[in-house]
Amino acid sequence: MNFKFFIGTKVLFGENCVTENKNEFKKFGKRAFVVTGKNSGKLSGALDDVAGVLENLGIDYYIFDRVENNPSLENVNEAGREARTFKADFIIGIGGGSPLDASKAVSVLAVNHIEPKELYSNVFINKPLPIIAIPTTAGTGSEVTPYSILTRRDLNTKMSFGNEDTFPQIAFEDARYTYDLPSNVTIDTAVDAFCHAMEGYLSRRSTPASDVLAQEAITIFGQCINPLINGQLDPYVREKLMYMAMLGGMVISHTGTTIIHGMGYSLTYFKDLPHGRANGLFIKEYLKFNYREASGKIDRMLELLGIAGIDEFGELLEKMLNYNCTFTEDELKQYASLTMKQKSTTYNIRTAAKQDLFEIMIKSLKAQ
Ligand code: NAP
Ligand code: ZN
Repeated sequence: MNFKFFIGTKVLFGENCVTENKNEFKKFGKRAFVVTGKNSGKLSGALDDVAGVLENLGIDYYIFDRVENNPSLENVNEAGREARTFKADFIIGIGGGSPLDASKAVSVLAVNHIEPKELYSNVFINKPLPIIAIPTTAGTGSEVTPYSILTRRDLNTKMSFGNEDTFPQIAFEDARYTYDLPSNVTIDTAVDAFCHAMEGYLSRRSTPASDVLAQEAITIFGQCINPLINGQLDPYVREKLMYMAMLGGMVISHTGTTIIHGMGYSLTYFKDLPHGRANGLFIKEYLKFNYREASGKIDRMLELLGIAGIDEFGELLEKMLNYNCTFTEDELKQYASLTMKQKSTTYNIRTAAKQDLFEIMIKSLKAQ
């Protein structure tokens, strides 16, 4: 065995974890820059909890609540500028993956006068500001990953940056913040978390330690499939989903993602499909493609899920996910080319050529 295992984030998991651990906020200074979306911070109740704690501790704060879904370089640059002007000591990200990813870019840009494209060098003269991450979806696991995935309009895709200094210092994981998530967002984000566990488990970069986390996340997803399909999203299920998402984040922190995410980025960029749904549409054909190289692990995964075979899994996923956009063959060829440019494509257990990606996409989506 020969592997590295590192998670740079202290996790505080459980009901009321923000208010019960308020002293954690004191460690990072007197000026907090809060990065959130238009609604997620307020609707989830997380922003109220955080504001209460900051006021109680006498910490000044500024709220940037204009993070776009799938934030762009331009969007995070604007937030970074405001954080610099505010002279922030630390960043608090509240929301789904979009605000949490944005908070990582802001933590770098607040203290480094660089063009946003230079984020991708992953070398920063000044150490990024500390980040506290508070998820309000149970999906990306961004609260425990170093990655920030940003929309690159210049390249027609989404691309990730991050290094050990962009791990959030603290993740507060309170499933209460997800109680009011609409069921479609709950499903999309849960499927994303499952993809992290599955792609990590089947990655060339998987390790014995990341596999333990992946297997636990896969088992939990199996227990949540029926509740997700039937809309039985009680607090018990919500907590399991949040735990699964955190585990999935820890997995990809070590393994990265693979071709599913690479292909999914195009569906989000060009067709505006939510991140998790875009990934989920490819699961069945991805498993069939990889079975030749990873039959043992795929069989074990199906066993952990409690599902008899790949086709049965595909039927269950079809009940969960839907989409109403159309695709041409030329579009899918373009998406295959773009996926070939993603580094994560090289982590796939079976080497995938452009034609392979095109075939997975055409079988998964009904091209016109
Ligand atoms: P999201 O884009 O953060 O949020 C989706 C929608 O849900 C938004 O409209 C958001 O509102 C709303 N929302 C969030 N929490 C809510 C709540 N508690 N109640 C009601 N509405 C709520 O979706 P996401 O799937 O969590 O994140 C996707 C992003 O994460 C993508 O950009 C993806 O590339 C990235 N990602 C990152 C990693 C990583 O490791 N860093 C991994 C996978 C994916 P607002 O508009 O107010 O925000
Ligand atoms: Zn993802």
